[in-house]
Amino acid sequence: MIATNGLSLHDLSYSEMEQALQSDGVNPAHAKALWQGLHRDALVDLSVADFLPPLRKWVDENVGNGRDGRHFFLDIPELAEEIPSSDGLTRKFLLRLRDGQTIETVLMGYEGRHTVCVSSQVGCAMGCVFCATGQMGFMRHLRAGEIVGQVLHARRALREQNPDMHLRNLVMMGMGEPLHNIEAVRQALGTISDVRGINIGPSKIAVSTVGVIPGIERMAAENWPYRLAVSLHGSREEERAALVPVSKRWNLEALIAACRAYGIKTGKRIFFEWTLIAGENDSAQTAHRLAKLLEGINAHINLIPLNPTGGYGGSASKDGHEFQRILRDAGFPCTFRQRRGIDVAAGCGMLKARGETA
Ligand code: SAH
Ligand code: SF4
Repeated sequence: MIATNGLSLHDLSYSEMEQALQSDGVNPAHAKALWQGLHRDALVDLSVADFLPPLRKWVDENVGNGRDGRHFFLDIPELAEEIPSSDGLTRKFLLRLRDGQTIETVLMGYEGRHTVCVSSQVGCAMGCVFCATGQMGFMRHLRAGEIVGQVLHARRALREQNPDMHLRNLVMMGMGEPLHNIEAVRQALGTISDVRGINIGPSKIAVSTVGVIPGIERMAAENWPYRLAVSLHGSREEERAALVPVSKRWNLEALIAACRAYGIKTGKRIFFEWTLIAGENDSAQTAHRLAKLLEGINAHINLIPLNPTGGYGGSASKDGHEFQRILRDAGFPCTFRQRRGIDVAAGCGMLKARGETA
């Protein structure tokens, strides 16, 4: 169980935490207090926790900083920079991980509720041409504890801002492709939705994928309780592959078939995301084709006006309302994603780690 750099306590599921205590001769019932301290109370320092003596002793002996030879450390990302946006409702955190890599996490306030947008990888291997994360390439996967750590950071930030506010919603729509890092994402979401800790309801969690078919199949087979969002962006293979290179691996036809099967198996609605790009995928003809493609699927379509990124010259559609109307007339709920944090590059697809560690 001892790794040279130790293990993150935030990587552990509840039952793994019980096992860790038990294997050191501590009653596993103490896992509850430890779990609550870490996840419900979002402590950054366990020395202040009011633990019973056996747990206190175990923590003092086993939890260190990851460099002192103790078994465990805590995943507390360091805040490298916080950038509020001028709308006052969006806060972007640049978080530094233990190896110096940086990721971005965004806290968004809507009327009375808060949503955190979480990263799953440093960079992304999928290479969507219009996305800043795709443009930087893939650095590495995040561990579960690093995903959980982002949510805990957002909770602490919100608690300082207003102790009465709760974090109720989560979207896996930050940097990276969650279904390309599915084990860590599964473990992290289990922790994040645990009622004894962070307690974000599973139906308030959305996993957004560019269309990694094996991941969608697994979500269906294992009955994941979260929402599924699929980034589509194209209604024909050539149109999509020009924007989303992985469409060559998991092509549109197979993706739609996987979505159809997901819908049948789970009975759940799928959210399709569509970044509207002038002249690329915003014509009335495309909208009609999309409606046809999704026929029979319980689908909600989310339109996202293209946000600017350095590495892509395309521009946002002037007016997506005709596109929206066509889909609505075909019977699909279709909404525009609220634009948030564009001025601080916290909008969709604008998240990008700084080059300081590259
Ligand atoms: N990798 C996952 C989740 C992260 S991206 C996915 O692709 O679904 C979250 C959303 O932002 C996706 O729907 C993506 O297509 C969209 N997006 C990426 N770059 C964008 C940009 N420049 N403008 C608007 N939306 C963008
Ligand atoms: Fe990766 Fe999603 Fe960006 Fe595509 S849109 S490059 S899948 S983060």
